[in-house]
Amino acid sequence: MTGLVFDIDDTLYCRQDMLVKAAETVLGTTVTDPLYFIKIFYDKSDINMRDLESGKITTREINGWRYEETFKALALPFRSGDGVLSADAYLELQSHMCLSEDMIEALDSFASNPDIKLAVLTAGESEHQRHKIDMLGLDRWFNSEDIIVSGETGFSKPDVRLCRIVEEKLGLKPDELWMIGDSYKHDITGAIDSGWHTIWINRRSLPHPDRLPDFEVTSDKELTSLLRSKFT
Ligand SMILES: [Mg+2]
Repeated sequence: MTGLVFDIDDTLYCRQDMLVKAAETVLGTTVTDPLYFIKIFYDKSDINMRDLESGKITTREINGWRYEETFKALALPFRSGDGVLSADAYLELQSHMCLSEDMIEALDSFASNPDIKLAVLTAGESEHQRHKIDMLGLDRWFNSEDIIVSGETGFSKPDVRLCRIVEEKLGLKPDELWMIGDSYKHDITGAIDSGWHTIWINRRSLPHPDRLPDFEVTSDKELTSLLRSKFT
């Protein structure tokens, strides 16, 4: 038996383009270096994660702050409040988000395979992530009890206790499980520490970490072809 455990953001769907597009709409300008924009935005995302998960601050507030910090770093002219407006624009874009055809096809085949169990392990605040889960229609492939949002557990990625929760829910041993995620720090290190196999989606071609994942891919296309060749 094999358990495939997916992160959501930038794993099951690509969030990066929407984050940049939302800022461009609000600022009325073009971001000339979107990869650097995303790097700064994601660096800022590591800060305040605990406050977000505990509900001390809202996703809108934290995303507004991340946007304005990113604008500053890239010397993009903005007015106070543009960060929160960008967060709102991002939410609007998210309401049209969907999985790629390739991902849908791969998940369809896994969901109908009796030797494969599927789960989701995502970081963040409950309401925001649950909304996304609904928008993406993940209940088509994942049992609702096997969709774990860290904000509902009291633990933050990469806490191995989150992996233990998944093991228990799926009834699988560590070496039967695969974590599939885009964040080396949040998705991959916790899974390696838990004795799981790992697939790292290294979209920004970040430098190689000291402990290598079992597989590394750089795009959605590479990910779905790896998943299909390995698990179907
Ligand atoms: Mg992610």
